[in-house]
Amino acid sequence: MSTAPMLRRPAPRPLGTDPAHAEHGAPVARRGELAMAPRDASFLRSPSTGGDTQLHVAVFTQQYAVGSGMVGIAAACDPVRILLDEGLFFGAHELPKSRCRRPGCRTLFEAADRQHDDLEHMRAYYGLQERHGVHLGLATRVRHDGRPGTVVDTAGRYLLVRLNDEPRPVRCHVTYAMEYETGPGEWTTVTPINHDTAPVPAG
Ligand SMILES: [Zn+2]
Repeated sequence: MSTAPMLRRPAPRPLGTDPAHAEHGAPVARRGELAMAPRDASFLRSPSTGGDTQLHVAVFTQQYAVGSGMVGIAAACDPVRILLDEGLFFGAHELPKSRCRRPGCRTLFEAADRQHDDLEHMRAYYGLQERHGVHLGLATRVRHDGRPGTVVDTAGRYLLVRLNDEPRPVRCHVTYAMEYETGPGEWTTVTPINHDTAPVPAG
């Protein structure tokens, strides 16, 4: 297991973020998980066969070098030259056969699969959506022990959080000393879950 590809990048930002206000290279989070999309071929005179059907992991770019704009959502493997079609996002763990295999995308696809498994497990186990209306995932704003930060990755049953005042990510338990932002300026303190309260069989 390697968490490095995610942790070397800026914290993921939600899909609706204005690209002008996102850090270059920050992964795009869609419903709390890494997103992917095909290349935006609308500027090409004749769509090429082959490469255009591939799906790339989406990152925010400030350095797009083709056409007039510099900012947008681009491919992790080449954020300077491959802009993505913003109308066609998928979760990066979906459609594994269409994945781009170039290094920048490949490492993030691997991270996306691992994060998806981790998050599905944590969502089912802790039931934060059902109990608190908290959708567990990447790019979520949290407070750990009162210190604000962002969920940047998962590690098994734990969240990796980058706190605003500390460069090194911190491993956080999902419910211990955690608050989650559920709306602009709206914070929810979550409570632990006890799976050991099943009735003890009599006798
Ligand atoms: Zn790619």
